[in-house]
Amino acid sequence: MQSSGRKPLRVLVVDDEQPVLDAYRQVLGAQAPNPDRAAIDQLRTRLFVAGGNPALMSKMPPESPLFDAVFCNGAEAAVEAVRAACAADRPFAVAFLDMRMPPGPDGIWTAQRIREIDKQVELVFCTAYSDVDPADIGRRVPPADKLFYLQKPFHPHEIRQMALALGEKRSNSDQRITELSEFDGLTGLPNRARILQLLKESVESARRNGHMLAVLYVDLDNFRRINDVLGHIVGDELIRRVAARFREILRRDDDVARATDAGGAGFEVARLSGDQFIVLLHSIREPKDAAVVAERLARPLQSAEGTDVAPVSLTASVGIAVYPLDSADDNGLLRQSGIAMYSAKRRGRGGCAFFDATMNEGAQARFSIESQLAGAMGRDEFSLHYQPQFDLSTGKISGVEALLRWNNSELGRISPDEFIPLAEETGLILPIGEWTLRTACRQMREWIDMDLSPGRVAVNVSPVQFTQRNFCTVVADVLRETGLPAERLELEITESLMMRDEEWTREVLAELRRIGVSVAIDDFGMGYSSLGRLGAIAVNRLKIDRSFVHSADTLGRHATIVSAIVSMARALGLQVVAEGVENFNQLLHLQDQQCNEVQGFLLSKPLPASEATELLERLQSSTATSRTMRLRSLAG
Ligand code: C2E
Ligand code: CA
Ligand code: CA
Repeated sequence: MQSSGRKPLRVLVVDDEQPVLDAYRQVLGAQAPNPDRAAIDQLRTRLFVAGGNPALMSKMPPESPLFDAVFCNGAEAAVEAVRAACAADRPFAVAFLDMRMPPGPDGIWTAQRIREIDKQVELVFCTAYSDVDPADIGRRVPPADKLFYLQKPFHPHEIRQMALALGEKRSNSDQRITELSEFDGLTGLPNRARILQLLKESVESARRNGHMLAVLYVDLDNFRRINDVLGHIVGDELIRRVAARFREILRRDDDVARATDAGGAGFEVARLSGDQFIVLLHSIREPKDAAVVAERLARPLQSAEGTDVAPVSLTASVGIAVYPLDSADDNGLLRQSGIAMYSAKRRGRGGCAFFDATMNEGAQARFSIESQLAGAMGRDEFSLHYQPQFDLSTGKISGVEALLRWNNSELGRISPDEFIPLAEETGLILPIGEWTLRTACRQMREWIDMDLSPGRVAVNVSPVQFTQRNFCTVVADVLRETGLPAERLELEITESLMMRDEEWTREVLAELRRIGVSVAIDDFGMGYSSLGRLGAIAVNRLKIDRSFVHSADTLGRHATIVSAIVSMARALGLQVVAEGVENFNQLLHLQDQQCNEVQGFLLSKPLPASEATELLERLQSSTATSRTMRLRSLAG
């Protein structure tokens, strides 16, 4: 109910005392969960000077919710709340922070963390002590003009007026839009667009003032593997952790502080994409200063003394380019630092390298994948390979998965694992994905017309495509255009989608079911998604990730996972495909587990369309009569 038609103001309240939170609840018009009248009244007296006047208090909460308030009883919970609010694009306008929350971190710590995530929120420090030095706090939690102070006990009116006035400030500014486009949602660091701008400005300033600056290109080692093994949620958490450590190292490490303080201009750290970061040292005395910093960044989870500060050990490779030695322009510096990073990576994990003009072609080539990718569609460089899937109970082909291939005239063949993440970042995955869908459907239609139908064709769909508003329309259009019956198409989506926007995912899946296409969850088992949730959404199949299949015949634990997935899937009425089957042991094992289908090098590699057609013809004319004969004849 909103009487005035305006949105309630988002307010965060952080205080370690439950009764204080309850009192805020009353002032801000929210219901206390368990209103204990006496306690609240008592607290009013303690907290609010006018608290003795219940008539005034009871007038305070208006009928319509002026405020949409969240209450936290400690620093960490508050930081999480801010993160969640920003992620949901519903940032807080104002946060009231208790200065002292023993034994946890204090209000200033909380404010610093909040500032890293949300640059716009107005912060109000509340304290019963007079030991607050605004000048000092302003320095520690800039910008000072977004900090306010309230002395306890306060009048309820003060809280409301302050929240309203400050909330107005935020809603009036369209700053938020800039924020979203300039900061990375996961880490709160400046994003690619912003750091490119900062770099440009920094180069101009270095040119004017005649000093050196360094660009450090930081890429985490083996991060993809970590992500695969631990799942995306842990991966994201690790990225956040590393981002926080980078900031800490740059601020606190003595050697680094000396190096970055050389010119007094400080540093900037940004997330470029995925597991790549850029650190900008605005002013250095000599290249060696940058090396000191790079060495510390290459071991983000170690203290300066070399002891681990986190249970995982993680290294990064760092490439360094220096203005004006390596290049006099911002784009050049960025490119060179990237090339240096790849060169460091090739020499082993956790290394650093300065750019040097002799760095080999390979690194340069790899770095130019991004520039080549943009024109790849136009140059017709993509093609599809098809990998068959077999039904274990009949030994017959049940479907084919379309897999994208890119062959570039300069760079040669590039693996989808390498270019798909780039295509996703740049948005190129949208036209590429649509092309893939159309090509696979057209090919399938052709096979049907040749009487060679391999059941269904499975197409991989990136989360970026799936979350587009018009995704279902694109699918329906392609089916109409190619004349492929909907039930012949299957879409493979990743498990991580399930955990993002569940509501949206559910809607799209329901719509796809209406259209008649089936859906498989790819790489199942990696994301630790809630198995129970699968029952409630419209999917048809699970594809067990190949890492489980590989170790299933040797490692007991993974064998258990496989049989758990199969029996759970059966209970939910889902089919199971095991991917990455490479040997007979695995096949037999999966047969024992009553897995429905298999796919893997043992039976067939992904094949170009012409070879896939030949395989289909061969399978059709095969005289093998039993399922084992069929499978054995394939495996050779
Ligand atoms: P995926 O969807 O899990 O695809 C299966 C991958 O496993 C393929 O790698 C395939 O060649 C490989 N594979 C198949 N059988 C075996 C086996 O027995 N052993 C081993 N070790 N590997 C096997 P590929 O083609 O390199 O694709 C890698 C990933 O790139 C795919 O993983 C998928 O996530 C992505 N991808 C490929 N094509 C597309 C596409 O058209 N769109 C999108 N969004 N992603 C794609
Ligand atoms: Ca797949
Ligand atoms: Ca897969």
